Amino acid sequence: MSIKGSCCCGGVRFELFEPPLLMGTCHCSRCRKAGSGVYAYVRAEAFHWLAGEALLTRYRPKPPFRFTRSFCRRCGTSLGDPDSGRILAIAASCLDDDPGVRPSFDEFLPDRPPWEKPE
Ligand SMILES: [Zn+2]
Ligand SMILES: [Zn+2]
Repeated sequence: MSIKGSCCCGGVRFELFEPPLLMGTCHCSRCRKAGSGVYAYVRAEAFHWLAGEALLTRYRPKPPFRFTRSFCRRCGTSLGDPDSGRILAIAASCLDDDPGVRPSFDEFLPDRPPWEKPE
């Protein structure tokens, strides 16, 4: 099986060999500003680059924040953190196929901005 994903310009492409373990939505201001909030958590062994790994730019925040943000440097698409750890947090917004899993939890709900629609 293969679940494909890509950035806005199509330069970065990847695939998952199995459905994500789970999906969750983060409402913190860092995710909001980085342009991704829903993540698919994928085992590193199940993630594979198809193209454009060299287009990735990484932003590593100062402590206490640890979540590295990867972007396509050509189009700015936020890809989540596809290259660190045993479980990777992939920006669900990059998925081109239905991962078959739905978001099952929320983080930092109180950090939602006043203009965000209540769920
Ligand atoms: Zn791109
Ligand atoms: Zn967040």
